[in-house]
Amino acid sequence: MQARILLFGPQGSGKGTQGEKLAEWLSLPLVVTGNIFRHNIKEQTELGKLAQEFINKGELVPDEVTNRMIGERLMQDDCKAGFILDGFPRNVVQAEALDSYTQITHLLHIEISDTEAIRRIAQRRTCTAQGHVYHLTYNPPKHAGICDEDSSPLEQRKDDTEEALQKRLEIYHSETEPILQHYQPSKVVYTINGEQSIETVWQEVQKIFTS
Ligand code: AMP
Repeated sequence: MQARILLFGPQGSGKGTQGEKLAEWLSLPLVVTGNIFRHNIKEQTELGKLAQEFINKGELVPDEVTNRMIGERLMQDDCKAGFILDGFPRNVVQAEALDSYTQITHLLHIEISDTEAIRRIAQRRTCTAQGHVYHLTYNPPKHAGICDEDSSPLEQRKDDTEEALQKRLEIYHSETEPILQHYQPSKVVYTINGEQSIETVWQEVQKIFTS
């Protein structure tokens, strides 16, 4: 499918989980900025060294660094027929940079309250190899502490502490949410109630692409 999709929502809204399903269903590459940064931090590349301080504090990595990284990723061949972006854009400057490169076809806005975000993130565990996400109660791995997909160990992210999460939610409301108004006129915004089961949210996501 020729679609250029943005996954949009606060921390813990289920973007990662729905993104993995959607990428498989539509056979589109899933580009997750947080995972690209975390991979670079693990490998201690120049980009990783630059980004890690910002990430651990829950702040945004500077726009020029992020925009360049995404620009290079979207130029790759696998993104030519479409892509799903999770974690980008995070502010209006980044949205404008993306618009100058391509036109978005869908923005899936998965809505949850801050109370629910905090409750979910406390129990979130992430796979160290590829960033697959689990929730200890709602979406546990088959074997405790081990990723179902690639058998790598699961960990709690450094920026999933209460302090960093508060900062990330603040940034979400002040800098990221205005992107919704930015895309409203182009009629690409679809809002879904994220405080439902993973399966129900997934059915609603599928409906957007089949109706
Ligand atoms: P996430 O996994 O999407 O929660 O991202 C983790 C962290 O990576 C964020 O808190 C930021 O520090 C950084 N990050 C991810 N995407 C972006 C972006 N589009 N712009 C700036 N920083 C980002």
